Amino acid sequence: LPVVAVVGRPNVGKSTLVNRILGRREAVVEDVPGVTRDRVAYETAWAGRAFTLLDTGGWDPEGEGMAARITAQAEVAVTAADVVVFVVDSVVGATDTDEAVVRVLRRSGKPVVLAANKVDGASGEADATALWNLGLGEPYAVSALHGRGSGDLLDAVLEALPDAPSETFDEETGPRRVALLGKPNVGKSSLLNKLAGEDRVVVDSVAGTTVDPVDEIVTLGERDWRFIDTAGIRRRVREASGAEYFASLRTATALERAEVAVVLVDASEPLAEQDLRIISMVEESGRALVLAYNKWDLLDEERREMLEREIDRQLVRVTWAPRVNVSALTGWHVDRLVRAMDTALEGWSTRVPTGRLNAFLGEIVAAHPHPVRGGKQPRILFATQADTKPPRFVLFTSGFLEASYRRFIERRLREEFGFAGTPIELSMRVRE
Ligand code: GDP
Repeated sequence: LPVVAVVGRPNVGKSTLVNRILGRREAVVEDVPGVTRDRVAYETAWAGRAFTLLDTGGWDPEGEGMAARITAQAEVAVTAADVVVFVVDSVVGATDTDEAVVRVLRRSGKPVVLAANKVDGASGEADATALWNLGLGEPYAVSALHGRGSGDLLDAVLEALPDAPSETFDEETGPRRVALLGKPNVGKSSLLNKLAGEDRVVVDSVAGTTVDPVDEIVTLGERDWRFIDTAGIRRRVREASGAEYFASLRTATALERAEVAVVLVDASEPLAEQDLRIISMVEESGRALVLAYNKWDLLDEERREMLEREIDRQLVRVTWAPRVNVSALTGWHVDRLVRAMDTALEGWSTRVPTGRLNAFLGEIVAAHPHPVRGGKQPRILFATQADTKPPRFVLFTSGFLEASYRRFIERRLREEFGFAGTPIELSMRVRE
């Protein structure tokens, strides 16, 4: 569900407005993840459109100055929300704190609907009109207490919501971009030849230059794939001095343009320092990753067992990456490699709708609560997926979640939503 966050200084009538919005839809009010006392997010609907209403007043971190607290709230709101409702007390007018909030909201580029509250007295309309000078567009005159104007406000909110109801996968057009990486002689060229055969289309070729990357577009399975800088792969830099430096530069630039990286390692030899370095580069780039163990045709039983141990020991950080054993020479399992590339890209682009995410987290947190630490039990109050490619999640919590618990959450998210082949980022916003 799309998220609507309500932000404003204390006493401007934020909670009354939240209750007003929820109150007209008694039946559908529902709290999100196993939260009882600290409810901060509610599912509700207006004009047939369901959304999650986030009451940022619930985040109020204690012990800081008021302005800092409100700014923190606004930051929470812009991270999590599709639309922000900014509530100002029209009788008091815009204060310095309000102006500070406006700056945070502006920077975010998120749509903001300005609610001029407490428009119930004689001077109400004029007070509301004065709030045009905040530069947030039309102030919606409301009286949260009496219910006046909240319908128009909600219409404006719906208007500002993103059109498409959340899709599971982003639409993609055009070929998907792959970087084929690996140390020299691992079999990149051979693999490319196997994959592309005669069908490759060379693109971006600039006559007479050797520095420009030349990509190749190849149709594999259901899609077109753009293999990045295949000229670099085929040119085979062999100079002794600086070869490694140039190889790693090429890896970095290829990654920058890629969506998914296929890292080839030579299964017939021990994992090299250079293999690990390339894998780290992919990890840092936030791209999807598939590991291809090449030259499988050369393996005997003994090497195979040794390889399993090597992988367990050295590649624990990327256990999420699909592993495919292949032979570029014979073409064995190359089709599986292409399927793994597909899977990794899907995971990389997946967006979990907020309602589903919170329902799922509510379940797993209820079954496996965070251990009590120092007499306190941190809880996840609300979560949202802030981004894709790679997926980034923000957890709003009532205390610091320890690393093992964050890993547990990540593992469960992966199992539930199919994030094979993609790094996931989990960040926390703690309300102390
Ligand atoms: P690149 O430097 O990564 O592009 O590696 P190449 O594709 O040039 O391959 C280096 C050498 O390894 C060549 O002699 C290939 O024939 C050989 N090679 C590549 N893949 C395989 C494989 O799957 N099995 C075997 N046995 N040899 C391979």
